[in-house]
Amino acid sequence: MRFSEIIGNDALKGSLVRMVRGGRLGHAILLTEENGGGAFAFALALAQFVNCRQPSDEDSCDVCGSCHKYRKLIHPDLHFVFPVSTAASLSESEKKAPISDYFLPAFRELALENPYFTEQMLYDAIGIENKSGLISVAEARRIFEKLSLRAAEGTWKTMIIFLPEKMNLDAANKLLKLLEEPPQGTLFLLISHNPERLLPTIRSRCQTIALKPLDRAERRLVEGTAPDNAEYREIAKSILEAGLGKQIAGLFPQWEMLADFGREKQREWCLYMENYIRKIYLVAQGLDSLADIVPGEEATLRDFAARIRPAFYEKAFVALDGAISAVGSNVNPKLTFCDLCNRLLLAI
Ligand SMILES: [Zn+2]
Repeated sequence: MRFSEIIGNDALKGSLVRMVRGGRLGHAILLTEENGGGAFAFALALAQFVNCRQPSDEDSCDVCGSCHKYRKLIHPDLHFVFPVSTAASLSESEKKAPISDYFLPAFRELALENPYFTEQMLYDAIGIENKSGLISVAEARRIFEKLSLRAAEGTWKTMIIFLPEKMNLDAANKLLKLLEEPPQGTLFLLISHNPERLLPTIRSRCQTIALKPLDRAERRLVEGTAPDNAEYREIAKSILEAGLGKQIAGLFPQWEMLADFGREKQREWCLYMENYIRKIYLVAQGLDSLADIVPGEEATLRDFAARIRPAFYEKAFVALDGAISAVGSNVNPKLTFCDLCNRLLLAI
């Protein structure tokens, strides 16, 4: 992952790069975030950057051998630790002392698909669901083993620990030892939602960097996942076109069609529209790779991105949220969608 791909906390990207370039990056960084706030994405981008063989002034190259492996999360010097519990997928002996390694394929899949994952998304992905995960002393021992090996190929061994506050006391004391006498060339990246629950001695060994919570528009960007639907897409496009042409009459057929949908379909369409607008926003930001563009859709999205003004996005999300809650509270659908179309027209 490159810094340029991360949503939110833009100022932090430059300051991390400057820290690395100025030799001011410590061996242990504590990234604090709100649940799902993008600290994992920052940890990955930082790990990739410090190991990149030909970084630019601002970011990793993304094409060298090291970047290639970091991007796929398969670099031999990149290690992950996260809270786990027993799961049906484990063997009887594994169940006795579950550690992160047993869940790595599911973890990689989740992190590649959505590096903004929350604690609950992690538990769902690794199949421990309703149980709360822990980082055990068995895990801490495994960290010792991994870090006692020489770096396989990178300049840094990177240990990303997601939610170190889930360590029990024995595990935390073992981690503290490592932080006090870090193995040569090791970079610890800790991601915490509750740093006040960490041992103060662990906190004091780390450079703490607090991520700002994502704002509303940024949160939309990381959350939009409505499935594609040609019917919904045509309505979305027609509304945006009519809005850009300031043709109120062009909106009538659309809002009548929406008003005639059942409530569940109305809700679905609103979510679809939010996602469609999110894609345009991503294209406008040059973040096409995150937009999950349907084949053949790219030219239309680019065209909208070029014509829609930046202030539209936030207003559109507010209007669509309003429509979703109106649908939920049984407001007259004709009023709801007439109002929505008007707001979109005024904002665009
Ligand atoms: Zn590179």
